[in-house]
Amino acid sequence: MIDPTAAFEALIERRGGDVLLLVDDALRIVRAGPEAADLAERADATLGGLSLIAAFGSAPLDAIARGAAASREVLTGEADLGHLGQRRFAVDAVPLAGGGLVLSLHDITALRRMERVRRDFVANIGHELRTPLTSIKLLAETLVSGAAEEAATAREFATQIEREADHLAQLVDELLDLSMIESGQTRLAIETLDPEEVVAACVERIGPVAERSEIRIRRLPPPTHDARALGDPARIGQALINLAHNAVKYSHHGGEVRVGWEPLDGAIRFLVSDDGVGVPDAHQPRIFERFYKVDRSRARERDDQQLGGSAGLGLAIVRHIAEAHGGAVGLVSEEGVGSTFWIQVPRAEIGGDAA
Ligand code: ADP
Repeated sequence: MIDPTAAFEALIERRGGDVLLLVDDALRIVRAGPEAADLAERADATLGGLSLIAAFGSAPLDAIARGAAASREVLTGEADLGHLGQRRFAVDAVPLAGGGLVLSLHDITALRRMERVRRDFVANIGHELRTPLTSIKLLAETLVSGAAEEAATAREFATQIEREADHLAQLVDELLDLSMIESGQTRLAIETLDPEEVVAACVERIGPVAERSEIRIRRLPPPTHDARALGDPARIGQALINLAHNAVKYSHHGGEVRVGWEPLDGAIRFLVSDDGVGVPDAHQPRIFERFYKVDRSRARERDDQQLGGSAGLGLAIVRHIAEAHGGAVGLVSEEGVGSTFWIQVPRAEIGGDAA
């Protein structure tokens, strides 16, 4: 005669990680694996004698076990358990020949979260692509239905189509960039670099864009101590340009954007500050997530259309560049006053001095 309790003990030994429970036909716990008490948030590690519902307070778990006990058939399902039901488990309820059940709970929280992230990602891309595509279709339809006959109107519409196509191309570029960096496929060409040169290149590049928007862009005076950063100049430059681009986009006409750097212990921090619309406190923790936008209407009404689309990917790219360097990103901002965004990367040693 096989002893189910001994078999259960053997299973507990084998199945580290999964939560195992042995219950009788009245769904009272006979024996529980060590993880079960944690999951039930109980100090009493045995859980012995408690009903399933008293131990876990989960109606779905109870229903699966009850169903298996009544039908004497294996039943599977899912239940939210743990603190505030924040973990999701795949549940197998296996009736034993001599009475009672073994319940096996496998944590699928991470799997479900990944599935949700992927679903959201696809939905977001679809949404971002649809807006410019709808405009292109409308403009083309208007051209087809007669607008093309008037040369000036035709040119105007064709220009708008071109602009929307540029937005689409930019979005696709950003997506490809992000996926390359995220998947670790981009190799960083790390070198010792002069932060002042990175700042100068950024200011030069954004200068014309800022000028068109009547925004002044200037370099902050360099720190008195010379220092070098360790990083990929192209990638750090790209990150700083994204930040400066945003600073221009979210500034008021006549505003000023400042770009600079400062040496920290073991790191070089690049800063971009503006006196623009600022980021409300509630949005700050999520602002570096991909596709996250505070509010589309906050970007200054664009008169020059030079500032590109607004897919909410720019800051996600900045964060990934920082993380690929083992660095970090952050911001200090006040709504209606302005923002300082920063990215920091490792500091290089110069002349044998410890950085
Ligand atoms: P987007 O393409 O929408 O600019 P980002 O990832 O670059 O995407 O920025 C995400 C959001 O963060 C923006 O929608 C905007 O609301 C906010 N944001 C970014 N930079 C600034 C800034 N300098 N000032 C105010 N808000 C900003």
